[in-house]
Parts: sequence; structure tokens; C-alpha cells
Amino acid sequence: MKIVILLGAPGSGKGTIAGRLVAHNSGFKHVSSGELLRDAVKRQTLAGLAAEDFMKRGELVPDQVIADMIKDYIADVKGECTLLLDGFPRTVVQAEILDQVIEGSDAELQATVLMEVADEILFERIAGRRTCPKCGAGFHIKTIRPVKDGICDACGTGLVIRKDDNPETVKNRLAVYKVQTVPLIDFYSARGVLKRIDGFGVINDIVERVRQVLI
Ligand code: ADP
Ligand code: ZN
Repeated sequence: MKIVILLGAPGSGKGTIAGRLVAHNSGFKHVSSGELLRDAVKRQTLAGLAAEDFMKRGELVPDQVIADMIKDYIADVKGECTLLLDGFPRTVVQAEILDQVIEGSDAELQATVLMEVADEILFERIAGRRTCPKCGAGFHIKTIRPVKDGICDACGTGLVIRKDDNPETVKNRLAVYKVQTVPLIDFYSARGVLKRIDGFGVINDIVERVRQVLI
């Protein structure tokens, strides 16, 4: 298995881009740490109970909680594929845990793709974001409209505004990103695996930019 880390601020488009890559190439698999956590919260599992309050405040959940979920996910992946890791790692400790997981498996880190988007754009994107509570698909009221207003194209479920997508929490998530996740840029850059992508523009163009660096 190859692993591609998608790195970038909240709203930088990691999930959207991953969704497009998977839709067009069955060799890709996508896992979103946020989705795994939201699902765990919904089912009120032990991990979900541990994560819920952190997520509501826009803070990171404890490293070990999410690392264990990702480890289990990676262990269950069958066959050859390129796994798009969206939202993990988000701290240096998580990156070190991932290193150990990779070392103990036949997986290899192919690249870390950094989605670069200006802060004003991030706020705009998150303010208009609508999410499918069932399958996790993401939409935007202006730029990524579903075929039927308010309904998920993929599974027909009514779209919602995520609890942590309000302006106050978004501000906090962005601050947390800058302090806790930005150090990963140097971490992966020092290893020569960092690919910077201009994350602003038309989705198809951005997807193409990402595809180019993964060839
Ligand atoms: P976004 O990228 O838009 O912030 P996510 O769906 O990736 O949204 O994450 C939502 C929330 O889930 C985060 O604010 C955080 O509380 C939690 N979370 C997701 N991934 C991680 C992670 N790797 N480590 C810690 N917390 C995480
Ligand atoms: Zn859906």
C-alpha cells in the first residue's frame, strides 16, 4: 500500500479533492479522521465519548484516540491501493506514530500534499459548507451545489451544517492548525516528500494539480 497524506487547514479542500480522486480512480482509497470521529461520536463508542467535547470546541482530540482509530483502519485495508489520509496526522506526535505504523507494515509514504489556501477563502468556504451526515460528502451553497438543494447527490440524505462550522469554532480550528499542525510542513519538507499545491481555483484544476504530483 502507498500512503498519501493530505495536509492543509480546515476548509482547504482535502476531503473534496480526495473524493474526486477516488471517484475517478479505483486505485485510491480515502479515509478522513474527522469522519471516523464523527461516526464514533454518533455511535457513542468509547473513542467517540472521549472525542466529543474537543471536537465541539474545535480543539484536537487526544493523539492516541485518533491514532488508534487510524491504525485499525490501515490494518484492515486489503489489497494494493493508494490510501489518501485526510486529517491525519495533525501533530508531530501523530506523525511519529504514523512512522511506526508504516515501519511495521508493507506500506510506504509516497508523498505529503499540502493544500495552500488563504485564510479569507477558508472562512468563505466553511461558511457555505453543507455536509451529508450519512456518507460525509461535502457541498457548498455557491460553489459545489448538489443537484437538488439541500440533498446529498451521493445518497439522498438531507444535508446539514456541521456543529463545528460556526464562525467562533472555525477561528479556533484555524488557530489550532497554525500552532499544532503547521510544524508538520517542516517535518515532511525535511524528508523531501512535501508537495505544495495551490488550493485556490476551480475544483477540476486543483484535482489535476494534485494528480500531477502523484504520478
Ligand atoms: P476540518 O479539516 O474541516 O477541520 P475534520 O473533519 O478533519 O475537519 O476534523 C473535525 C474535528 O475532528 C477537528 O476539529 C478535531 O477536533 C477532530 N480531529 C480530526 N482529525 C484529528 C486528528 N488527526 N487529531 C486530533 N483531532 C482530530
Ligand atoms: Zn450522502
